[in-house]
Amino acid sequence: MSIAQNLYEFRKNIPAHVTLVAVSKTHPAEKVMEAYNAGQRIFGENKVQEMLSKYEQLPKDIQWHLIGHLQTNKVKYIASFVSLIHSVDSIKLLQEINKQALKHNRVIDCLLQIYIANEETKFGLSSQDAEQLLNSTEFNELKNIKIVGLMGMATNTDKQEQIKNEFASLSLLLQKLRTSNLKLPTLSMGMSSDYKLAIEQGSNMIRVGSTIFGERNYAV
Ligand SMILES: *Cc1c(COP(=O)(O)O)cnc(C)c1O
Repeated sequence: MSIAQNLYEFRKNIPAHVTLVAVSKTHPAEKVMEAYNAGQRIFGENKVQEMLSKYEQLPKDIQWHLIGHLQTNKVKYIASFVSLIHSVDSIKLLQEINKQALKHNRVIDCLLQIYIANEETKFGLSSQDAEQLLNSTEFNELKNIKIVGLMGMATNTDKQEQIKNEFASLSLLLQKLRTSNLKLPTLSMGMSSDYKLAIEQGSNMIRVGSTIFGERNYAV
């Protein structure tokens, strides 16, 4: 099936309150354009350089979401245009995003990435770290960033029960962290393999790549 068909089919199966981030990493700008022509406007990339290059080539009404690990020294390349950063995992990184956002007179929306998987390789904060960060004076001084929710990735496993429990724990944490000052509307969880479970557990933003664009070829 074409990318356009994949998108139409996919959208039919997700509830209206769920935002679809089409993950275009490793796919060339022409493929992104196919999805754009099928009405998709939100795209996710995990590398700064790749996102910047596509941003420069593609229509300016695209909303670019950074979903991969972000190094502080690279924030400056995307600060003028990035629409949402899913992968904030330290106060140091937030301070840098704030500094770069200020230069462009913007407030940049961010999600805290929470470590929910039972795997060594994933980035993210623990629940306690997230709570501490949000209650710190350093955080409260930052006026050019806005934390709008949480992001998490479940363990890469076939065990549905485990994935479900990991998503449920993130959902619970989000509810716990919400206050009158901190609304945290966004819960980014779920990818091609597990978005259904994620939506059942309260996700309202899913990051889907291969189901829309096909398999990734990292060698290219
Ligand atoms: C690549 C990636 C996705 C999409 O994965 P698919 O399995 O292709 O849907 C989602 N989230 C993050 C953080 C990713 O890096």
